[in-house]
Amino acid sequence: MHLSSVNHCIPLSDGNSIPIIGLGTYSEPASTPKGTCATSVKIAIDMGYRHIDGAYLYQNEHEVGEAIREKIAQGKVRREDIFYCGKLWATHLDPERVRPALERTLKNLQLDYVDLYIIEIPMALKPGDDFYPKDENGKWLYHKSNLCATWEVECHPYFTQPKLLKFCQKHDIVIVAYSPLGTCRDPSWVNVSAPPLLKDPFLNALGKKYNKTAAQIVLRFNIQRGVVVIPKSFNPERIKENFQIFDFSFTEEEMKDIEALNKNIRYVELLMWRDHPEYPFHDEY
Ligand code: NDP
Repeated sequence: MHLSSVNHCIPLSDGNSIPIIGLGTYSEPASTPKGTCATSVKIAIDMGYRHIDGAYLYQNEHEVGEAIREKIAQGKVRREDIFYCGKLWATHLDPERVRPALERTLKNLQLDYVDLYIIEIPMALKPGDDFYPKDENGKWLYHKSNLCATWEVECHPYFTQPKLLKFCQKHDIVIVAYSPLGTCRDPSWVNVSAPPLLKDPFLNALGKKYNKTAAQIVLRFNIQRGVVVIPKSFNPERIKENFQIFDFSFTEEEMKDIEALNKNIRYVELLMWRDHPEYPFHDEY
């Protein structure tokens, strides 16, 4: 598969296609200045990104929509050029809550449709408008749901997911790798005892060879094996850097060397919910 900055969509079995790199847009709402997300999405579209990964939970969908609509109005892109992924949060998993949640997302975006709508996490929390419901003693309020699968998986050189990748490739399923750079290392939801991915000496040495950063190395690794990546950055230089991954490629041996870095480290462990009856990470995938 030849990938380039203007042509990097992978076909899906339903006839649609998905751009292999997207801009992640999660940033802690309380500490992110208003407008940063909209500015970043506009920069990303100008840079050539055509896939934006968002969610109602991120509380910035209105900014994502504003940026996409502005770029459409400027004639930079058409709606059909953009792939937007939205997400159903854990407090809306009951079937009768799904449609209203999606409609709220569309209203926030002020767009007519999303290209993909996924279940954000496969563990239900008490239905309602509180994103993180707890009782008066601070105990999480769980809820029963009837889920059998979730489609998103963390994936990077420390968590290469060989078994899952093989299964998905066999069944023509495309994997979207969240946290492809190893997350922002926010201790409230990330396992920060794990070593930082981008400091890995081998990845940095390989970066020197190709005149690329460790971030570009880990992103290239995934796209070269057909895995979609959605690195988050609200920094113009890094948004650009993360997109400059189409002008080099690894040898087969280098791909194997990167794969060998796998440590089965899952950064997004969500340990605060490990006693949830549907906590997904006790199982092997
Ligand atoms: P990433 O692995 O994308 O890392 C983001 C962090 O890396 C930020 O702190 C960013 O800071 C920094 N960064 C970005 N580019 C570079 C670079 N070139 N060099 C060094 N540092 C860099 O983590 P996320 O956990 O945010 O995952 C990406 C996206 O995946 C999310 O934003 C979200 O859209 C999605 N996601 C979905 C989940 C789910 O649905 N279950 C779970 C987790 C994530 P800065 O902005 O300052 O550049």
